[in-house]
Amino acid sequence: MGHHEPAFHYCPVCGGELNTVTLKKSEPARQVCSRCRFVFYLDPKVVACTLVDVQGKIVLLKRSIEPQRGHWVMPGGYVDRGEEVTAAAIRETREECGLDIRIQDLLGVYSYHGNTQVVVVYTAKSIAGQLLAGDETAEAGLFHPDEIPWDRLAFQSTTDALRDYFKRMKADKSPVRHSEIQGRKEFSLTT
Ligand SMILES: [Zn+2]
Repeated sequence: MGHHEPAFHYCPVCGGELNTVTLKKSEPARQVCSRCRFVFYLDPKVVACTLVDVQGKIVLLKRSIEPQRGHWVMPGGYVDRGEEVTAAAIRETREECGLDIRIQDLLGVYSYHGNTQVVVVYTAKSIAGQLLAGDETAEAGLFHPDEIPWDRLAFQSTTDALRDYFKRMKADKSPVRHSEIQGRKEFSLTT
């Protein structure tokens, strides 16, 4: 069994048998119904996550389910068909850790070769609610930037998103510092 193994055996439209067929040379083989020719496209799954800032600390949740049970992850979950990705991020964050949030910015989109998930990560601020361990969560924690449990993060996307987040925070801070220094200089010149 590899990842080329067909995931389904019967056509969801007519119940006919599915065959694995190469339709286009540049694309993976598809499952095609032998009876009605329906093409059963297996799409990626979209996951919406948030990096929530609560007074300078980051919300991470310890997973209570497999995969990666006991490891820390950002709040998030699958986007429903027809649901706005930002709405899913807000909904999942409330379900998993009890916080109402305001989305701030798109942090990044994380996908990996051979992985069926596309992870969309937003930065967010907590605006209401109380941090608690909700669905699929054993424990909800607030982590100072230098307390992040890097060796116990659940997924590659968790690590990559947190890295990007701190990289961006550093970049956002430096111009402020620069202007502060310049301001001080100007001040000292005029006195
Ligand atoms: Zn069919």
